[in-house]
Amino acid sequence: GLADRLQNTMQKIRGKGKVSEADVKEMMREVRLALLEADVNFKVVKSFVKKVGERAVGQEVMKSLTPGQQVIKVVKEELTQLMGGEQSQIAVAKRPPTVIMMVGLQGAGKTTTTGKLANLLRKKYNRNPLLVAADIYRPAAIKQLQTLGKQLNMPVFSLGDQVSPVEIAKQAIEKAKEDHCDYVLIDTAGRLHIDENLMDELKEIKELANPEEIFLVVDAMTGQDAVNVAESFNEQLGITGVVLTKLDGDTRGGAALSIRSVTEKPIKFVGMGEKMDALEPFHPERMASRILGMGDVLTLIEKAQTAVDEEKAKELEQKMRTMSFTFDDFLEQLAQVRSMGPLDELLKMLPGANKIKGLNNVQFDEKQIGHIEAIIKSMTKEEKAHPEIINSGRRKRIARGSGRTIQEVNRLLKQFEEMKKMMKQMSNMQAKGKKKGFKL
Ligand code: GDP
Ligand code: MG
Repeated sequence: GLADRLQNTMQKIRGKGKVSEADVKEMMREVRLALLEADVNFKVVKSFVKKVGERAVGQEVMKSLTPGQQVIKVVKEELTQLMGGEQSQIAVAKRPPTVIMMVGLQGAGKTTTTGKLANLLRKKYNRNPLLVAADIYRPAAIKQLQTLGKQLNMPVFSLGDQVSPVEIAKQAIEKAKEDHCDYVLIDTAGRLHIDENLMDELKEIKELANPEEIFLVVDAMTGQDAVNVAESFNEQLGITGVVLTKLDGDTRGGAALSIRSVTEKPIKFVGMGEKMDALEPFHPERMASRILGMGDVLTLIEKAQTAVDEEKAKELEQKMRTMSFTFDDFLEQLAQVRSMGPLDELLKMLPGANKIKGLNNVQFDEKQIGHIEAIIKSMTKEEKAHPEIINSGRRKRIARGSGRTIQEVNRLLKQFEEMKKMMKQMSNMQAKGKKKGFKL
């Protein structure tokens, strides 16, 4: 998944102050694959990746985020944006009853969602809906709605399967007026595929019933097919919103993203199960997380980070033990001070470091770091690797080269020696601890 892919990339770009174009390109390639895997339409993926790429390049890396997290943050924000805000409002007609048509392919969840929506309208909005059985083709479709009505204790309007759906809709609206039902939910027939007959019938019902909402019900598990279905229903019938069902399954839900950007119609609700209370408002941010597999991405980022720190610590420990810690290593540490926290903090992260006396004396302030860097950079390769050869002549030259005083050069050399001693002490303690079989 995305998490595994990003992990590698993140390790590479960790510790950088800025996200470079190459970093973003690499991460975007992973994001692209992940989105395609999540069944997001390729056109959508293409324009999306382009947009995120432009935004992510050159972003200052926030202190609390690694570049990898940063890019993911941008990706998530853009995904959320792409799916729009939360839009679970249901329209109300100027004069009751408000008519809602439920449309979609067979098995998408129209009948179930009709029941769920009626339940929501009553519970949340204190409404009094009438359920209408207008699917006269599917065997037992009428019975199915009647059963749900009984279960919800709500009226179901039916004229059997010998009357046309248009006529059923017409009479249902009359009945709703008589009975003071303020919503009419029409459960229409579906087909296995979109065909002309189906569309013609739906258009006829639309003409007559003048619905306030036409909700397209699509099965999230069908991925790209759901997107194609949404596109044709919207083109031919005109929909006002989408209900994405079966999100309680193991789909990544990439269809949500594509549907929204292909039809430009909001996803209003999501179906989270077969029960009558399993209809929820659509939360774009949650969906973005789901598409990204964010839950696991974030934990993996944390793990990756720990792994990197551990690696660094191990490497450093090795150098300490062999006393091969050089000024070059020191310089590298200093370069990381701003992104990783001060060197003393870094040292404190090493196991056993809290037991070392005098560690608190190893402190550098920001300005000093610049001075120290200048001094080290004025050393020759040999001097950096073997500071013991730095005699008074060399000290003078280094001072002149770095624009610092000889006293400062002396102080640094002394500090470095102390640090090495301390490191030796530390690594000895650690070695002892290991031999005894406990962790310091
Ligand atoms: P219709 O042909 O479009 O009317 O679809 P139905 O309402 O008959 O639903 C088809 C099947 O999908 C039924 O078994 C439903 O219980 C099931 N179903 C509908 N919505 C959901 C959902 O959100 N989650 C799950 N797990 N199953 C659902
Ligand atoms: Mg049905």
